[in-house]
Amino acid sequence: MSRFQRPQLPQDILIAGGHVFDPASGVDEPGAAVWVQNGRIREILPAGTPWPETVPRFDAAGCFVFPGLIDLHVHLRDPGLTSSEDLASGTRAAVAGGFTSVCAMPNTTPPPDDPERIREQVRRFSELAYCRVHCVAAATVGRAGREVVDVAACRAAGAVAFSDDGDAVADPLILREALERCRDCGSVLSDHCERPELSGKHPMACGPVQEELGYAGQPWTAETLQLAQGILLAAGSGMAAGSGMAAGSGMAAGSGMAAGSGVAAGSGARYHAQHLSSRHSVELVKWALERGYPVTAEVTVHHLALTAEAVKKHGSNAKCAPPLRDEDDRKALLDAVKKGWIQAIVTDHAPHPVERKAAGLNEAPFGVIGLETAMAVIFDLDRRGELPLKNSLPALTASAAEVVGWTDRGRLLSGFCGDLTVFDPRPSWTVAAPFHSKSQNSPFLGETLRGRVRATFVNGCCVYDASAD
Ligand SMILES: [Zn+2]
Repeated sequence: MSRFQRPQLPQDILIAGGHVFDPASGVDEPGAAVWVQNGRIREILPAGTPWPETVPRFDAAGCFVFPGLIDLHVHLRDPGLTSSEDLASGTRAAVAGGFTSVCAMPNTTPPPDDPERIREQVRRFSELAYCRVHCVAAATVGRAGREVVDVAACRAAGAVAFSDDGDAVADPLILREALERCRDCGSVLSDHCERPELSGKHPMACGPVQEELGYAGQPWTAETLQLAQGILLAAGSGMAAGSGMAAGSGMAAGSGMAAGSGVAAGSGARYHAQHLSSRHSVELVKWALERGYPVTAEVTVHHLALTAEAVKKHGSNAKCAPPLRDEDDRKALLDAVKKGWIQAIVTDHAPHPVERKAAGLNEAPFGVIGLETAMAVIFDLDRRGELPLKNSLPALTASAAEVVGWTDRGRLLSGFCGDLTVFDPRPSWTVAAPFHSKSQNSPFLGETLRGRVRATFVNGCCVYDASAD
């Protein structure tokens, strides 16, 4: 077979002999087999028990077997910017990185901001993608920030969440309306926390490296001010719902949202803060969770692994929004994942052509690719003792699924989707172009990582097999 296959009909397969690991569900079984039947997990068969002989077998000896990785934040650039990426190349990069479900951000041309466009997106996903792709609809018409989309109709057409990613929903009246409409149809508002009046869209974060290199800098307030607005509006609209609407909406969600306890699915006017980067933002999310406010948050792999120092080495390939910050910020983000204050780790995979990234730090666009390196970088954080896999993996699987309300993905439990990632912790490899992505703007270029995705399964179908060619 070839290395990549688009998912076909649900399959039977026995992924045998690997270290089956799903800490969110308490599964930790070296040498076990995951039995997928008709595309769903039937059971985990421990080492030493008889395994069925007639089921097709994939040998995972020496590898980890994880629930299929989930990325709530990718840019596939399709339609409109397909010289950087398209649905096929972006999802080949996804499955090569072990991702089985990704959420595509709406800053495409045109953006998915009405039901017809969303239906068209969903149709193209099912025709062209190598993994499950979900449409995040624009929160406002044209992503212009002035008029909230028809949230209920977009939701019915298949939108999994709403965001103007690339830009915040800055107007408090618009943000409040978007939150309330999301609440009313059980969806989530994902916000790119950046106030451009404060960030100036400068290429780096304020700090010693920015001063040393002499570029203009973004203060942390550009992120945390928008986050504060979102948290307070979510809290306010949640309270309104709790007092005047049916039980189960609004502040009722608060009971399940205590710090560290994960996510209350399908709850009130939930505000999901995208790609947090500052320790001040972490403090604010902690504050909100302690009060039971309906807030979730994500962090990127690169913000967990890198600081502004990476700009010295990688130049514009380490220019991203929000910018990489200081070691104190990175440590706070790692701690927030450990404590469960941040529920999802994402890539914010943001492909850009080489020539645009070569334009110099001021002119180059924001964003880095990350799908193909994410799992190895996360594994490296475990090896360095900075973020144990038992804390990071749930944020790439079970608790990420809960943010968007998926109840049959992200865990290795009977009846869940047969979506699995087989990760080999042994090989060392150097990050180099070409990538399966059309772009190569990685802040890990030239770095040596250890551990690599060996195979990826969606519905029991092998969509990526590193050893096939
Ligand atoms: Zn963003």
